[in-house]
Amino acid sequence: MALTSFFLLFGTIGLPELLIILLILLLIFGASRLPQLGGALGRTVKSFKEGMKEAEKPSLKCPQCGYETKEEADFCQKCGKKLK
Ligand SMILES: [Zn+2]
Repeated sequence: MALTSFFLLFGTIGLPELLIILLILLLIFGASRLPQLGGALGRTVKSFKEGMKEAEKPSLKCPQCGYETKEEADFCQKCGKKLK
């Protein structure tokens, strides 16, 4: 039975249906592997969030030498000119 027809059979998905799906997933992956799966998902989400954070950071550009740094620094890491 295809997963879509499974959903059609149950109509709207409620908590009992979700529990059945969870049980099926548990049987497929095995209970011992679920924490691993969750851990991998957690790491993916974490690295994604860190990537977003990194992109949000404004880069500081040195007016003297043009060196760009993403880190919070009071002085240019290349020539030592005060940035703030
Ligand atoms: Zn500089």
